[in-house]
Amino acid sequence: MAPTVRTKARPTIHEFDLIRALHRRHGRRTPSMIQGIGDDAAVIISRADQWTVLTTDLLTEGVHFDLRTATMADIGFRAAAANLSDIAAMGATPQYLLAALAIPRAGSRQHVLQLYRGMMAACRPHHVQLIGGDTSGSGGGWFLSLTLIGIVPPRKALFRSGARVGDHLYVTGTIGDALAGLRLLNEPPPRVKRHPRTAALSTRHRKLLIGRHLRPTARIAEGRWLSTHCFATSAIDISDGLSGDLRHICEESHVGVELDLSALPISPACRAYAASRKLDPIHLALAGGEDYELLFTVSPQQRSRVERAAIEQGFSLTCIGMIHPLRFGIQALSPHGRRHRLANTGYEHFT
Ligand code: ADP
Ligand code: MG
Repeated sequence: MAPTVRTKARPTIHEFDLIRALHRRHGRRTPSMIQGIGDDAAVIISRADQWTVLTTDLLTEGVHFDLRTATMADIGFRAAAANLSDIAAMGATPQYLLAALAIPRAGSRQHVLQLYRGMMAACRPHHVQLIGGDTSGSGGGWFLSLTLIGIVPPRKALFRSGARVGDHLYVTGTIGDALAGLRLLNEPPPRVKRHPRTAALSTRHRKLLIGRHLRPTARIAEGRWLSTHCFATSAIDISDGLSGDLRHICEESHVGVELDLSALPISPACRAYAASRKLDPIHLALAGGEDYELLFTVSPQQRSRVERAAIEQGFSLTCIGMIHPLRFGIQALSPHGRRHRLANTGYEHFT
């Protein structure tokens, strides 16, 4: 997941190169393994009639959260939502949670109870049960590592690798809100004279954007719906920004893409924030890290069926592009009708 706090760069490590190297060296395949390193979650065959889906995420104080802008309950909620979102991206149903925690000297029992209250609030709507974890002291800040286990019927899981030339690219909900919310949290209070434009944003929009950052919704129902009906050919969740996460679908599927920037679903709140700060809302939508929306591809044959069914279900989906051959690369069509190579403005650790 993307950090919320600026960290000092460690230019000797490149996150995705490092993961690829670990995969090459240690990622052996076995017959019971459907998907190892390289997707939103691992998938293994647990029973003849069921696949198990596993994902883990680590949150570090000073990188992923800042106790000056988030409560312990917010941090627990976000941590659970990040893991739930990876299960959603696989089209799976989450079931069990393991939580490993390192508590700094200043941490209290009350802090931990609040953290768990937030974590379980995110899990409760999905009936996810806490089944274990580990507890340790920390010489530094807080560390929270969650592991989530889910299930999916055999051959129904959604992978990053299934996009085909001619497929349409879709995203759920709206994107850019969480980044706008994070930026709002990191601004000095509105009373400080240095930011006179802060007042231009309504309290309702401000609350909505901050809520999207602190209490994101994992698209579990949408993911299951896409997998149950075989509507999606590939899927990923947006946890590092659209422009970065889109690349993972292209790399794993060996395809190119044209992203239609004028089609990006941007909320009125995000547009109002962008206008008040003289920012381009498209930039927020491309770079925004943790919206936890699903990005997925649909074959041309399924397109109208998916759009009709989404309306019936009350799901918000937007078509934002088209899959092309690999040689096309990753391109964006600007609102002025010009094509250009899409830069990766999403988040990557260590760069
Ligand atoms: P996501 O953003 O969906 O959580 P990541 O970019 O964190 O995905 O991870 C991509 C893939 O790399 C996943 O399959 C994940 O399990 C794997 N991965 C990440 N870090 C490590 C690590 N330190 N060791 C082994 N596998 C890793
Ligand atoms: Mg993911």
